Amino acid sequence: MGDMLDRELYGGIEAGGTKFICALASQPPHLDYEVTFQTSDPVETLSRVQAFFQPFIDEGRVKSIGIAAFGPVDVDPSSLTYGYITATPKLAWVNTNILGKLHQSLGVPLAFHADVSGSAIGEYTWGAARGIDPSLYLTIGTGIGGSFLLHGEPHAGMTALETGHIRIPHNLQQDAFAGACPYHQDCFEGLAAGPALAARFGARGELLADEDPFWQIEAEYIAYALVNYILILSPRIIVLGGGIMQRSFLFDIIRRRVRELLNGYIQAEKILEDIEHYIVPPALGRYSGVLGAIAMAQRLD
Ligand code: ZN
Repeated sequence: MGDMLDRELYGGIEAGGTKFICALASQPPHLDYEVTFQTSDPVETLSRVQAFFQPFIDEGRVKSIGIAAFGPVDVDPSSLTYGYITATPKLAWVNTNILGKLHQSLGVPLAFHADVSGSAIGEYTWGAARGIDPSLYLTIGTGIGGSFLLHGEPHAGMTALETGHIRIPHNLQQDAFAGACPYHQDCFEGLAAGPALAARFGARGELLADEDPFWQIEAEYIAYALVNYILILSPRIIVLGGGIMQRSFLFDIIRRRVRELLNGYIQAEKILEDIEHYIVPPALGRYSGVLGAIAMAQRLD
């Protein structure tokens, strides 16, 4: 008796803009304990995080905790605002030092990345991109973001990657919508993310029927973006998550369009003969992010 009670635990926090998932695992990807709650203001939300972890920390069982946070976040360790949520549209969270606050309240070693990098690391460690290097994870939902992992580490340079804001051809014949990005109007995110669908159709994009011809245009926009990432980053696998990719019929249209757009130029077997294993959905479902955060915590060992 008590065997499980004595085990050391790694923690993960998926700090999302709409919900937080906190979890503890002794042998991930199996989770020993988990809780999910809605994101409210920073004080209330972070006190719920602490309430979940504190009993286990008091027992001395928590080795480290990873945080995968909504953003934009500052992930440059040399920056004065490292660990901050910065210019988010969620005003209560603007300039919140989430890493510093959690470090103060939890007092265990913490790892920190953007939420999309957490999902990428989760899928690379235990999911659809397991052991495949380099890999690209993209989320297409309320926003569009991505994380490119080289040797399992998210690429960042001057800033993190901004995969949602690249320019792609705008199909003006069939899609006269001006675009929804406040910075670039018809960039990829401005044309293809959830708010762009909502702005086009009045109702939420998720009410659009699967048969609606717009999905062909949506898939084309995604395919254009993927072709650019393939040509520039050359990932060995692309994982597409996020709310819009719940429409699983999009995968086949995207794969076909990617192959057509590349037109035989990239002579990779993955693309020519095995594209259904090249452009894939996540394997960890709603747990990609929190499991990635746990993997980040393990890497601190
Ligand atoms: Zn933009």
